[in-house]
Amino acid sequence: MRHFNYKNGELYAEDVPLRDIAAKTGTPVYIYSTATLERHFNVFTQAFAGRKALVAYSVKANSNLGVLATLSKMGAGADVVSGGELARALSAGIPSTKIVFSGVGKTRPEMDMALKAGIKVFNVESLAELHVLNERAGVMKLKAPIAFRVNPDVSAGGHEKISTGKAENKFGIAWSRAQAAYAEAAKLPHIEIIGVDVHIGSQITELTPFKAAIEKVGGLIKRLRAQGHNIKSFDVGGGLGIPYNSDNDVPPGPDAYGRLVKQLTADMEIELIFEPGRMIAGNAGVLLSRVIYVKQGEDRKFAILDAAMNDLIRPALYDAYHEIEPVMQTTSDLRSLYDVVGPVCETGDTFAKQRSLPDLKADDLVVFHSAGAYGAVLSSQYNTRPLIPEVMVNGAEFSVIRQRPSLEDMLSLESMPDWLSATHNAV
Ligand SMILES: *Cc1c(COP(=O)(O)O)cnc(C)c1O
Repeated sequence: MRHFNYKNGELYAEDVPLRDIAAKTGTPVYIYSTATLERHFNVFTQAFAGRKALVAYSVKANSNLGVLATLSKMGAGADVVSGGELARALSAGIPSTKIVFSGVGKTRPEMDMALKAGIKVFNVESLAELHVLNERAGVMKLKAPIAFRVNPDVSAGGHEKISTGKAENKFGIAWSRAQAAYAEAAKLPHIEIIGVDVHIGSQITELTPFKAAIEKVGGLIKRLRAQGHNIKSFDVGGGLGIPYNSDNDVPPGPDAYGRLVKQLTADMEIELIFEPGRMIAGNAGVLLSRVIYVKQGEDRKFAILDAAMNDLIRPALYDAYHEIEPVMQTTSDLRSLYDVVGPVCETGDTFAKQRSLPDLKADDLVVFHSAGAYGAVLSSQYNTRPLIPEVMVNGAEFSVIRQRPSLEDMLSLESMPDWLSATHNAV
């Protein structure tokens, strides 16, 4: 369920007309709904009521401090994949004991940061990483709590660029090497084994891959325990899909997913850890944009928007579908097919092809739904387009939670090479 609905013929975010936000911040702009974030977090946690479970929100889906603070207030932990994300999570008030650190390429400075903060667990993805972590923890006279992220070689469906649990993917410890990795870790003085971790992909729209992965890893946990390893936590990762296109994808809801996970882990006596990202933030955000021009091409119409692939790259990167709606409902039934594009100089800067939309004209406002996850976080300043603002709505209030930088701000980080500067030439 989302809180972006029409009232009196125009689209609102909760109780705020999107038109009001556009007037305040300009467009394009990302807009997030507090009520939707809270609802998704609640529904997800309730699916595991009665079980010891940590919901570590995957920060990379949407890492804005306002989003993190909203979830932190509700008791969320965080799954971080860089020192930068760790700094964000801590700064938003997420306790270090609820932070898990994932990623294939953690650096020494990132490990030091996380060790100093005292995070819950490092999800380790290689023996090379394990040894470096042991060394860093040794320098700090600590024991680093670890789980290995194992690669169960399970196909998760979905787009190949977001599948992570196949043997050919770069992620995790190869299945045939997992037990040996635990044996190796048990010998290291500054490592404490606490669990097992798996994450098979993103935008997964059926339960079968989760079932396959959990059963496989469940078997591994039994064997590891039999070998004397103290496995206290089972991190089942994230990846639950969301409906992007109300006409065709109907992924299982958190309740069905919850029932499955609870049933498969019922006799394990283990703390469950979840790393949902998209499921929490995806439908809690929209991208609001304005039509600059409508152009009639040889055989098709183009709606040229002020948002572009640098603001929302999912269609260009993953052929992703986003529902598009005009902010003002029209009384006429006239619809046309549009190629909805941005102003960036790339053919890939196309959000939708031959999309049926109510007739559009210059200055109309439109929204892209389901843009709360992997939207703002993946944006860039390509074509020297400033990063767009982010706004959080809460009931009838809204607040700018990330400002648009000025062109001066953007240029101020750059400088001429010394040999082109006036003073250098004068010498
Ligand atoms: C990206 C990622 C997630 C979150 O995936 P979603 O599909 O957004 O739920 C969780 N864990 C890890 C390790 C990730 O890389």
